[in-house]
Amino acid sequence: MTTSSKSFSTRAIHYGYRPADNEGALTPPLHLTSTFAFETAEAGGEIFSGDRHRHVYSRISNPTLDLLERRIADLEEAEAGLALASGMGAISATLWTLVGPGDEIIVDNTLYGCTFSYMRHGLAKFGVKITHVDLTDPENLVGAMSEQTRVVYFETPANPNMRLVDIERVAEIAHAKGAVVVVDNTYATPYLTRPVTLGADIVVHSATKYLSGHGDVVAGLVVGTAEMIANIRMFGMKDMTGAVMAPFNAMLVLRGIKTLKLRMDRHCESAMIVARMLDACPVVKKSLVSGTTRF
Ligand SMILES: *Cc1c(COP(=O)(O)O)cnc(C)c1O
Repeated sequence: MTTSSKSFSTRAIHYGYRPADNEGALTPPLHLTSTFAFETAEAGGEIFSGDRHRHVYSRISNPTLDLLERRIADLEEAEAGLALASGMGAISATLWTLVGPGDEIIVDNTLYGCTFSYMRHGLAKFGVKITHVDLTDPENLVGAMSEQTRVVYFETPANPNMRLVDIERVAEIAHAKGAVVVVDNTYATPYLTRPVTLGADIVVHSATKYLSGHGDVVAGLVVGTAEMIANIRMFGMKDMTGAVMAPFNAMLVLRGIKTLKLRMDRHCESAMIVARMLDACPVVKKSLVSGTTRF
């Protein structure tokens, strides 16, 4: 794990960047370049053959994105991170990498609308079976797992009805059958929940929401083991979707994350006030949300 002993907020502002390496610039430089030059044809040969690791082309990697990727990995307590053009870019690049025809993905009954559509109308078109299970009771997963189940995928809290899923128990059941657990952590953010520490293998984000926090950018992130992230980068992102994040957007997300703790504390405080008000209101009924969102 890459996490240092510094607090969440300090890491959200400083992790992975040293002004001394960048002419003393307090704010990280923005690397607006598609391509990276190499000194000699031999050096180019080594880089292209993979013998030497360095930035080559910004559809694969870029220093501004690299900082954001290392920072989100640190905040999520994961080994590695990847920045993509949108939350849907992050989700689709991840799943295109993990599954093929004949494989099954088990998902909770509630999913963000476009994720639901991508799975049911997108992946299903290419022979991937999508099975809905009510994961608010993880024991429902025990009988649902099959030989074909490659991935168990859910959001917690889910968008939009805020259902909660026990990450630890779902991961235990899924891992016993060799499936990969993918959690969409958009709503909780790493400030409130770090799914990898609870057994999830991969975490996906729409950084468009709380992580960037100012409504000025569409962006996506993925974290997981270094090996899984390398596979998603080199296949799901580079080849299958091309859903690469622009360096300028990486800068906006890095800026947004600096205030994540302050904003999330305030969101939680405000949500508690609203919840108490609704709880005390006699015309408001409690109901357990179930069923599947349609899109
Ligand atoms: C918004 C959202 C997405 C999709 O992200 P985009 O950045 O809009 O592509 C995925 N999951 C959840 C939970 C979301 O709220």
